[in-house]
Amino acid sequence: MSMELEHEDTTGRTEPIITVRNLRTAFFTDKEVIRAVDGVSFDIAPGETVGIVGESGSGKSVTARSIMGLIESPGRILDGSSIRYRHPETVREFAERFPKRTVDLTDFEGDRDPAALFDHPDVDATPSSFGYEDPEEATLEDFTGVGYGDALGIDRGDCVFVTEGSHEDPVDGFVEVTRLSGEAQRAIRGGRIAMVFQDPLTSLNPVYTVGNQIKEALRLHQDLSGRDATREAIDLLEAVGIPDARRRVAEYPHQFSGGMRQRAVIAMALACDPEVLICDEPTTALDVTIQAQILDLLRELQVERDLAIMFITHDMGVIADVSNRVNVMYAGEIVETAGVEPLFAEPRHPYTRGLLESIPGRQSGDRLRTIEGTVPTPNEPATYCRFAPRCPEAFEDCEHVHPVSMPVNEGTDSHRAACLLYPEDRPTEEAVERHAERDDSIRGAASPADGDRPTGGEDR
Ligand code: SF4
Repeated sequence: MSMELEHEDTTGRTEPIITVRNLRTAFFTDKEVIRAVDGVSFDIAPGETVGIVGESGSGKSVTARSIMGLIESPGRILDGSSIRYRHPETVREFAERFPKRTVDLTDFEGDRDPAALFDHPDVDATPSSFGYEDPEEATLEDFTGVGYGDALGIDRGDCVFVTEGSHEDPVDGFVEVTRLSGEAQRAIRGGRIAMVFQDPLTSLNPVYTVGNQIKEALRLHQDLSGRDATREAIDLLEAVGIPDARRRVAEYPHQFSGGMRQRAVIAMALACDPEVLICDEPTTALDVTIQAQILDLLRELQVERDLAIMFITHDMGVIADVSNRVNVMYAGEIVETAGVEPLFAEPRHPYTRGLLESIPGRQSGDRLRTIEGTVPTPNEPATYCRFAPRCPEAFEDCEHVHPVSMPVNEGTDSHRAACLLYPEDRPTEEAVERHAERDDSIRGAASPADGDRPTGGEDR
């Protein structure tokens, strides 16, 4: 796989369509609580590809499944997590389609001071519900959206539309995905945010034709049936590069090659005309030539449809090829985030450096390096650096201070690392102190860890 960096760094892009803040997803077993995703925050903008990379067990797929609402018992998205889908059309549609109560923020007392809203008797939200440590950080916009049933003490299942003033034209709203349940959640999943999995065979039913499976998605999400659906299924197969789509639409998955099956799965995902596409290792099971074709296809579709893509892989070569921006995950946390160019040119976190040094052909002469050890299971709150046992640069503080995301240099907010060595233009002692203070305040603002209730209505 080539390591060409073909995409500009769009780190500074505004108006994300997906905003993830302080996402924490845990699995509760009889013996332990596994914190598969532990305080993850990132954005994805339309037309942008955000790569998520890390070893197996780093929390990449659980992050994706949390966004899709696919976490099943004994897993839960914990209180204080937020996943916002900002799409005016969807907000308008939800406001009309689902049972709702409208809360006009102008009714609130307290001079409409956002911080004062936390004290209002109808508001159950805490600053951590919005990913803040301090109530003063909240804005009125935080309270404006669909789905804050819990936050406002309203029965789960209702969609709550919160606005400032008129709610007739909720252009600036968002849908809080973690608060939705039932039909509203299903309308988001597959309809607005679609997912392509690693193995196309697990996404395709062997006893139905490929065409019928695409038509089912069209029936569910676009209310198309009969000839219209067949025509659209053929168009979709053509759009993903299936030759002779008119004939192929009536074939079964076993009659497709591996690459064609993955194209068919992408066609199924596009059948709902999503704005966001989550690709979870979509090319891992394919050989290198087919892998390159699928990556090209995704790029073309992205340009045509202005898709926001979240691309998960353990392969740094693929990440370099497809991403505008990269989040490196380790043991449930994002340990480094940067545009693709700076990340590959100047990786800062020792884990990212280790991943890059493990790529065959990147180091000349030397033996291929590996990162000794394995990813730990994050089964206790992090009070230290989870990478410390494997880190060649570990020092004493790493054993008892938990690093949080910090700019690698003062003033370079777009490149951040969760490592006590940063910001590197500050003395290490001072940097360590900052991490400790920031971690304390995040911990103080978060709700009780293991006793957290799930933020969806049921175990999700
Ligand atoms: S905090 Fe310490 S152990 Fe963790 S990555 Fe940085 S130097 Fe290594």
